Amino acid sequence: MESQAVAPFYKNGFVVGCEATKEAVLIDPGDEVASLLAFADRGGLTIRHILLTHAHVDHVTGVAAAKRALGVPIYLHQDDLFLYEHVVEMGAMFGLTVESQPPIDIFYAPAQQITFGTYAVRVHHTPGHCPGGVCLQIGKTGTSGTDLFVGDTLFAGAIGRTDLPGADYDTLIASIRDVLFPLGDACVVYPGHGSNTTIGEERRNNPFLQSQGCSLAPRAEGLCATR
Ligand SMILES: [Zn+2]
Ligand SMILES: [Zn+2]
Repeated sequence: MESQAVAPFYKNGFVVGCEATKEAVLIDPGDEVASLLAFADRGGLTIRHILLTHAHVDHVTGVAAAKRALGVPIYLHQDDLFLYEHVVEMGAMFGLTVESQPPIDIFYAPAQQITFGTYAVRVHHTPGHCPGGVCLQIGKTGTSGTDLFVGDTLFAGAIGRTDLPGADYDTLIASIRDVLFPLGDACVVYPGHGSNTTIGEERRNNPFLQSQGCSLAPRAEGLCATR
């Protein structure tokens, strides 16, 4: 697996490959798309799917380049389509020139199986940071998988911001508590920004998830404008 993050958003993009078949998925290609595609090339990986955790501008600026290079389907949750379709305007809000992105090919569906080589991706709808946020659980086919690509839902020691259109703080907390925590403490969490963590670490120590009912709950912070 490879992850890359570049300025200005330092948003993590990922290539996850099957060691046996060399099939792979590309997750959240942003401004670092060229280095992710180069990594796949060097490793002889064939990327089968472009998977988006959500449609904020920092997570999708590389989709057009990836689609041109790969010609494989792009996946998104339908509830984030309004964000995806306004990505040029969202970029302009941050003073960035962003190219318009190609159409979504496939909307995530409940119980959908996305496979690459001997691996399967389970899609969990985790709204709150945005309406169509999902977490992608990856593991060997036939297992539930212990690698979680969570987008901006959960970070090491923080949670996603909830002050952008369609976001909701209580919905985000519920997604983390009711959808992510039951996946198990051993799951490794790969967030959209910053370093990896685990469900167990965040369940025990994340200040946002310790303070239910406390009026002094910490506020979400952003490394970047759309974190
Ligand atoms: Zn982000
Ligand atoms: Zn985001």
